[in-house]
Amino acid sequence: MRMDLKSLALPGVQHLQPYQGGKPLDELERELGISGAIKLASNENPLGLSELAKVAIEASLENGARYPDGNGFYLKRRLAEKLAVSVSQLTLGNGSNEVLELLARGFLGQQHNAIIAEHAFVVYQLVITAQNATAIVVPASSWGHDLPAMAAAVNEHTRLLFIANPNNPTGTWVSLASIKALLQELPDTVLVVVDEAYFEYVDQPGYGSALELIDDYPNLVVTRTFSKAYGLAALRIGYSVSHPDVADILNRLRQPFNVNSPALAAALAVLDDDDYLRRSIGVNRDGYNQLVTGFDSLGLAYIPSAGNFIAVQVPGDVSAIYEALLRQGVIVRPVALYGMPHHLRVSIGLPHENQRFLDSLGRLLVDRDTA
Ligand SMILES: *Cc1c(COP(=O)(O)O)cnc(C)c1O
Repeated sequence: MRMDLKSLALPGVQHLQPYQGGKPLDELERELGISGAIKLASNENPLGLSELAKVAIEASLENGARYPDGNGFYLKRRLAEKLAVSVSQLTLGNGSNEVLELLARGFLGQQHNAIIAEHAFVVYQLVITAQNATAIVVPASSWGHDLPAMAAAVNEHTRLLFIANPNNPTGTWVSLASIKALLQELPDTVLVVVDEAYFEYVDQPGYGSALELIDDYPNLVVTRTFSKAYGLAALRIGYSVSHPDVADILNRLRQPFNVNSPALAAALAVLDDDDYLRRSIGVNRDGYNQLVTGFDSLGLAYIPSAGNFIAVQVPGDVSAIYEALLRQGVIVRPVALYGMPHHLRVSIGLPHENQRFLDSLGRLLVDRDTA
């Protein structure tokens, strides 16, 4: 009898579901026999790469035959300056996804658990499960994280608690005061990871970066990314700010050259590209208003979002609507996997992209009503 190779993998790993990414745009167009498809499926920056980043990437290729700077010296120095933290508090990752994974690898074994919220970013569940640790999923409240309930779920085996602020795919956020209250309540044996992937976009009363609390709570870890408002998703670069001891653990675990040279150069460039960041935020705010106005006139409920995407509730067979949108060349993201079988998540695009999505969706709903 042949050996079942999969049964040789660690138990947690056997339970993992591979992350479902979308097809390449070209391939989708080929399959559907269409052209000019638009992708509003991965919360990418619709402005495309910043010009300053492009120049920096090209210049970095001059040294393309050499290993990158494994310590990210220049980027960390600039980040430390900008964030008013010390270099020893920073860990760079191949996307902030990698930092999340390093946290799980460093602090979770099979005897441990980590606390996450219902409808939270799926990567938390993945990295916890891969460690053979237990994910304790705390029911959401109005789609958002219920921080008091998450605190109540902590026990002596808890090592990590993840807060996505704002959360993807719901777009919900929690106040800085509520994070502070949580930190005050928890034992400092629980690392509280506040994932601020969409931080730059947020303009909500009571919202604030948990970085403000970093000096007071050694168990606080804040993660950020260059993939969203800074428009570097393809380059794969993100970071965490933590106590230096936590950073030391993460830096021991990471691959020596986990962040590549074009990514380091691009991140350093965009960090001071204030014009690009301002335009990212402006396009996003306008697109948000355009989309929710459209949803209102279509009579569709949506979850108010602080990020660069919106979860909108569609009537009837959501996967049929998703497929029909695809055939019209509009790619969005179904979120049944997140326990949201009645929603689609649409990333906020350029004005003409948002309009095309609204028009397509509107047509499908009319067809459905008249069918
Ligand atoms: C997009 C996203 C990230 C960032 O991922 P990268 O690996 O940095 O590209 C992290 N957290 C959440 C909640 C996200 O939606």
